[in-house]
Amino acid sequence: NETNSSNFIRNIIINDLETGKHDSIITRFPPEPNGYLHIGHAKSICLNFGLAKEFNGKVNLRFDDTNPVKEDVEYVNSIKEDVQWLGFDWNNLFFASDYFDEMYNRALLLIKKGKAYVCDLSPEEMREYRGTLTEPGKDSPYRNRTVEENLNLFERMKNGEFKDGEKVLRAKIDMSSPNINFRDPIIYRIAHASHHNTGNKWCIYPMYCFAHPLEDAIEGITHSICTLEFEDQRPIYDWFVRECEMENIPRQIEFARLNLTNTVMSKRKLKQLVDEGIVDGWDDPRMPTISGVRRRGYTPESIRNFCSEIGVARADSKVDSQLLDHFLREDLQPKAPLVMGVLKPLKLVITNYPEGQTEMLDIENNAKDETKGTRQVSFSRELYIEQEDFMEEPIKKYFRLFPGNEVRLKGAYFVKCTDVIKDENGNVVEVHCTYDPETKSGSGFTGRKVKATIHWVDANNCKPCEFRLFEPLILDDAPENEGKHFLDQINESSIEILQGFAETTQLKDAKPLDKFQFVRNGFYSVDTKYTTDDKLVFNRIVPLKSSFKP
Ligand code: ATP
Ligand code: MG
Ligand code: MG
Repeated sequence: NETNSSNFIRNIIINDLETGKHDSIITRFPPEPNGYLHIGHAKSICLNFGLAKEFNGKVNLRFDDTNPVKEDVEYVNSIKEDVQWLGFDWNNLFFASDYFDEMYNRALLLIKKGKAYVCDLSPEEMREYRGTLTEPGKDSPYRNRTVEENLNLFERMKNGEFKDGEKVLRAKIDMSSPNINFRDPIIYRIAHASHHNTGNKWCIYPMYCFAHPLEDAIEGITHSICTLEFEDQRPIYDWFVRECEMENIPRQIEFARLNLTNTVMSKRKLKQLVDEGIVDGWDDPRMPTISGVRRRGYTPESIRNFCSEIGVARADSKVDSQLLDHFLREDLQPKAPLVMGVLKPLKLVITNYPEGQTEMLDIENNAKDETKGTRQVSFSRELYIEQEDFMEEPIKKYFRLFPGNEVRLKGAYFVKCTDVIKDENGNVVEVHCTYDPETKSGSGFTGRKVKATIHWVDANNCKPCEFRLFEPLILDDAPENEGKHFLDQINESSIEILQGFAETTQLKDAKPLDKFQFVRNGFYSVDTKYTTDDKLVFNRIVPLKSSFKP
C-alpha cells in the first residue's frame, strides 16, 4: 500500500493520536515559488499528503512566499498543477504572504518583550560579530537599544525610511550560544521590491527562521515535516513559537532529502540549466522536474510507488535512478500497448512476395496479457528493419539477419537473406530476402526453427516518427568528480534524435502523452511540444531492459 509504508514519522503520529496530544493531524507542503518542483519535492509531497490521508487529517499547500525577489506566479501555477498531477489534493491553499500583518505584530510583541532589536551592523560586521563554531560571538553595539527606540526604528523600517541593508530586526537571544542559530538571528530585512501577492505594501520581509514556525503555528500544523538541514534550526523554531506566544504548537520533524544519482536536485541549479539554455525549458524531458518527467512520460503511479519504496529515513543517502526506472517499467508494462517501430531504418525487400499486395496480420497488443487483444498490422513486399538487425559479416553468436541466414519477422513469416544492395561508398542500403509462405505466424509450422525474431514496419504503410532517446544530463558518478561544479559535468550526449517509422494501426489516434511499448526497444510517450500532424515525436521514457550493473 502506497500510503501505509512504515516510517518513524508515522510512529510519532500514531503515538500523538493515542496519547491524545492531538485529535487529528494537519500537515503541509510548503514550497517556495521560486522554481518548478522536482522529484525530491515529490518525496515530500507523498509524505505530507500520504500521512494526512492515512490518518484522516488535513494537508495544506502553502506557498512560502516571503522572498519577493525570486518568486513568480508562473511558479505558483506550475506547483499547483504538479501536485495535482501527482494525484494529491490539498484541503487548503495558503500564501505565507497573507500572514505578513500577523508576523509584523508578533515581531512587535518580541520588541515589547525586549526580545528583539533593530541593528545597524553591515552584513560583513554581522558575520564578524557572529563568531564561529568554536568561538563565541560578540554583542552588537545596537543590542541595548530601548524598547521605544526599537519600536520607533522598526516602524520607520516598515514605512520605507531606510535603504535595503541599512537596518535589520534581530531576535535578542544569546551571542555565545553553542548553536549559532541562537546568536541573535535576523528576523526582518528591508527589501524595496514588489511582491507577487502583496505588491508594494511591504518593504520589510520576514526571514525564513522566523516566518516558517509562525506560518505553521498560524495554520495549526501539528507535524511540520522538513529536510535534515533544518535540524539545527529546530530549537530556534521552538523558541519563536514560544516567545511569539502562538496558540498552536507545531512540532518540527526532519527526514533525509532525496538525492538521485546523476541528478541535480535544487531549483537554483535547475534554473541555471534553463537560463543558460542547456535544456529546452523547465519541462525538458531530461530535467528531474515534475513537468519534465511528465513530458517524458513518467506516470504519477510510478513516482508514488518509488517514493513509497525508498521510505523515510533520518540519514542522507543517494538513490540509484535505476530504481525509479524499475517502477516505471512495472507500471507501464500492463498499460502501454505494443507497437512496432524502427528507429534506424534499413530497407528490406521480399523478392518473391507479389508486388502491390498487402496483407493484414493479427499481432498481440500485450505479450503478457491476452485480454488486451490484437491489432491488424499491414505487411507487404517492402519493409523496414533496424540497421542493427542486419550484419553483412556476422560476428560470433550473431543470430539475426545476414546473407544466407533465416529469421522470423515478428508476427509474420520466416525470411532468408539472399542479396544486399550497396551505395557507391559500399554501405548496405537494401537487403533482399525471400519468404516462405508456409511459415506464417500462427499457422503451426514446425518444419524448421530460426534463432532470432526481429521486428519490422511495412514501408508502404507506415508513419514517419521521430524518436528522442535520453541519457543522464549530469555525469556525477565518478568519485574523482566530487566537488566539481555541476555545470562542468554536463553530459554532452544526453539526447539522441532518430528519424524512423512505425506501424499505423496502433498509432492511429496517438496524441500527446499517450504511452506505447515499442517492441524490443522500450517505453515511449508522445511529446507535447514537437509532435505535429505529419510527424509523431516520441520521448523514450525508459529502455525495456536496464543496462544497470550492480
Ligand atoms: P531546492 O533546494 O530544490 O530549492 P527547497 O528545499 O529550497 O529545495 P522548497 O520549495 O523550500 O525547496 O521545498 C518545499 C518542501 O520540499 C520543503 O519541505 C523541502 O524540505 C522539501 N524538499 C525539497 N527538496 C527535497 C528533496 N530533495 N527531498 C525531499 N524533500 C525535499
Ligand atoms: Mg526552501
Ligand atoms: Mg532552495
